[in-house]
Amino acid sequence: MVDTIRTIKLLGKWSTNRAIGRRRPIIAVFSMTHYCNFYCPMCPFGDSDKEGQMKLVRSRDLTTEQWKAIFDKVSKHCVWSIIEGGEPTSRPDFMELVKYLHSIKMPVTLITNCSLLHTIDLDELKKYIQFITCSVDSTYEEPYCKVRGVTPQVFKRVTDNVRLLTDHKVPHYFNSVITKYNTQEFIDQTYFDRARELGANAVSLTFVEDRSDVNYSLLPDSKTMKEVCESVLDYMKKPGSLPLMIPPEYFQQIIEHGQTLFDECGVWKSVFVNGNGTVMVPCWKFNSPENVYSLLEKSVDEIWDAPQWDIARTCHDCKVLGCIWYSSQPVITFAKNYMRGLGRIIGQKSPELAEAVS
Ligand code: SF4
Ligand code: SF4
Repeated sequence: MVDTIRTIKLLGKWSTNRAIGRRRPIIAVFSMTHYCNFYCPMCPFGDSDKEGQMKLVRSRDLTTEQWKAIFDKVSKHCVWSIIEGGEPTSRPDFMELVKYLHSIKMPVTLITNCSLLHTIDLDELKKYIQFITCSVDSTYEEPYCKVRGVTPQVFKRVTDNVRLLTDHKVPHYFNSVITKYNTQEFIDQTYFDRARELGANAVSLTFVEDRSDVNYSLLPDSKTMKEVCESVLDYMKKPGSLPLMIPPEYFQQIIEHGQTLFDECGVWKSVFVNGNGTVMVPCWKFNSPENVYSLLEKSVDEIWDAPQWDIARTCHDCKVLGCIWYSSQPVITFAKNYMRGLGRIIGQKSPELAEAVS
């Protein structure tokens, strides 16, 4: 259960700060470890040097106690937490950390590739988290293996594990990153039927945002992107369709402009904590030493007063990334994605606040 009083209190503080021009984060994203067992080309954790990643885990991953200290700091500001990777379930203390977040009343969305869920006590896990976001880009073996860089055996393991979530009644939905490898199932809409068959009760989608540190593009060509968007919009209108957690405007803007539109990037609304406890200001694309702050050493207030946040006021570098487009929308819209149900809670319990944070 989400603690409504805590949520309303923190949102009230956030909107008061905002009214006096002071920006502070409201959502926490914890990148729990430098290790991931997958090889996704769109993600830095997909690096094939897993030995190197394990070295980073040993030398840079935060300890259990350090993560707890960061959770404590961040929970004074944020209404919700998202834990992601590397692969968060690969940490031996994963359950202890999730349990700790629960004890300090931080609701949790877990983003996972689902490949290790069979090693976890799911009945225990569901006591401490609100949702699992299953990163299932494709429901077909071949494109899945291509986008995720894994074998057919891993695909089978993931689909079996997703079914375990249904068996254990763990609330979950699917998230797909659309690349040039998995467009067809969105154009013919079979992704949705197959996701439903795998037990998903909602789906979130984003086009891939190409990385600036590699020399390849995974984005489909513009004609195919348009076809995907048109088909998704058509699917949304069908009676009995699976709920989509990203509003039609995202797809409409891509059809009309070839990219999303937003006035000002909302990346400052989230605190993205890296596996070593650092925060990059304003975001991962500006990764240079002067933009990196340690949340172990500094407070959220100190980091959010940093001058580099000004970069985000004019930067529009993220063209199609769903989470950045979302964070650039009013908080109520933002809440509908990773924090399902939160928008409704705020609207019911405090209509004036719902207006203030819109
Ligand atoms: S599974 Fe997730 S964290 Fe791991 S490489 Fe792929 S996108 Fe990155
Ligand atoms: S739009 Fe610019 S500031 Fe915002 S997340 Fe993207 S790169 Fe960072």
